[in-house]
Amino acid sequence: MKTDFDAVIVGSGPNGLAAAIVLQQAGLSVLLIEGKSKIGGGLHSAELTLPGFIHDVCSAVHPLAADSAVFEKFPLEKYGLEFMHSAFAAAHPFDDGTAVTLETSIERTAQQFKDPETYKQLIKPLFNNWQNIRSAFLGPLHISKNLFKAASFAYHAALPASHLAKNNFTDVKAQALFAGMAAHSMLPLNKLTTSAIALILMLIAHDKGWPVIKSGSQKLADALTAYLISIGGKIEINNMITSIKQLPSSKIILFDVTPKQLLQIAGEKFSNFYAWQLKRYKYGMGVFKIDWALSQAAPFTAQQCRKATTVHIGNSFNEIMQSEQTTWNGKCSLEPFVIFVQPTIIDASRAPAGKHVAWAYCHVPNGSVESMTDAIEKQVERFAPGFRDCILARHVMNTSDFENYDPNYVGGDINGGMFNLTQIFTRPALRLSPYRTSAKNIYICSSSTPPGGGVHGICGYYAARQSLKDIFKISLPAL
Ligand SMILES: Cc1cc2nc3c(=O)[nH]c(=O)nc-3n(C[C@H](O)[C@H](O)[C@H](O)COP(=O)(O)OP(=O)(O)OC[C@H]3O[C@@H](n4cnc5c(N)ncnc54)[C@H](O)[C@@H]3O)c2cc1C
Repeated sequence: MKTDFDAVIVGSGPNGLAAAIVLQQAGLSVLLIEGKSKIGGGLHSAELTLPGFIHDVCSAVHPLAADSAVFEKFPLEKYGLEFMHSAFAAAHPFDDGTAVTLETSIERTAQQFKDPETYKQLIKPLFNNWQNIRSAFLGPLHISKNLFKAASFAYHAALPASHLAKNNFTDVKAQALFAGMAAHSMLPLNKLTTSAIALILMLIAHDKGWPVIKSGSQKLADALTAYLISIGGKIEINNMITSIKQLPSSKIILFDVTPKQLLQIAGEKFSNFYAWQLKRYKYGMGVFKIDWALSQAAPFTAQQCRKATTVHIGNSFNEIMQSEQTTWNGKCSLEPFVIFVQPTIIDASRAPAGKHVAWAYCHVPNGSVESMTDAIEKQVERFAPGFRDCILARHVMNTSDFENYDPNYVGGDINGGMFNLTQIFTRPALRLSPYRTSAKNIYICSSSTPPGGGVHGICGYYAARQSLKDIFKISLPAL
């Protein structure tokens, strides 16, 4: 049967873009449809506060993009992508005015702790095995040689962060650093698997670092878009799809949306069982975010924090654990764990001369519209006294602003769904391939599939790979 396109992709986040490129590269005719006026989903940058101050609306720090086995296949530098690295991947300040840092060197990171050997004993063997771990765990869980080679990672990753930190690190500062990493899971730190994201972020820091993108995250979306167009892909914007009937005819459809939207758009095509599975899908905590235009860089007491684009603000392991537990219990924390990013300490192109931008968010209950401005600024001020005096303007977004901005951020959940034990590898539903739906030609490629949230394009790659195999009998390698 003649169709308008071989493949239609709905949604142009990093996963939709990656899927579109992979399918177009395989020789298909591809149309990428985006509901909003700009391509990129979580990859936008904009003058949110004052003219000349460029803020990353969503994602800002790119360890997963820099280490992505998908993006490294595309010639993105040619289309303007440039990663920029600060002296440290991340810094973590304490009330006593000191800080610890996560550095490229395992040795230098370990030397900061009272017992450097414990850090090295845990991290070095995992780091030496990183390529196998990346291949086995950043994607669908397939039984492969790599999975067995990465068994030690699997054991550590399955542990609650509270268990791993307290049993492996004698130094409370090492424990706190680990808590800040684990809190990216957006789960209480006593839950199984919260060590997984912490270990992955630390291993990538030792491998590729935690870069920001020169002139803003938008540049990655721009590079992916330009490359897709250069190989013949078609793009349509301002077309928010509410029903599958709106789409042109195609042999396959890939959705860069989450289960809630997928059900609304294409629910009628699915088996009752698959629709039931999607309905049961769980979303996690949301975020409240502030962007600031600043007269100078944040005056952190600890000098290391002035040299790290990412600063984890939360003091001790117990404070961070308490903050995440409170949020999990449905309340906003008065002393939230804050992820603070200051790209202009290395990228002057984002603000007028001598001025700075900063970006920060904390976790809040899903759907919360409570303002966290005061709580976040108090936390920053605690480690950077005088910060409030540097603020020229601020822009805030609560969970509902995020969902309006990008419907994939359901209730403000930035990971496309909860990252708990039952949804890590089986998102969005327990199936042989998580990218297939129950309808023959419909696939899901968003962060609601493995390996989940973050800018890496891996969900898009694997969904495209599955559809090429099923419908076009084209085989692509696993990553
Ligand atoms: C505040 C915040 C901070 C973050 N920080 C980081 C970070 O520092 N590093 C990092 O790696 N990740 C970060 N993330 C997460 C990251 O942005 C996401 O995990 C990633 O963008 C998910 O990619 P995706 O392609 O699955 O979906 P998205 O990027 O959400 O893209 C989905 C796209 O689909 C479109 N769409 C949805 N429904 C429809 C429809 N019905 N019709 C047409 N179009 C539709 C949307 O408009 C959107 O453009 C952050 C996210 C937020 C919100």
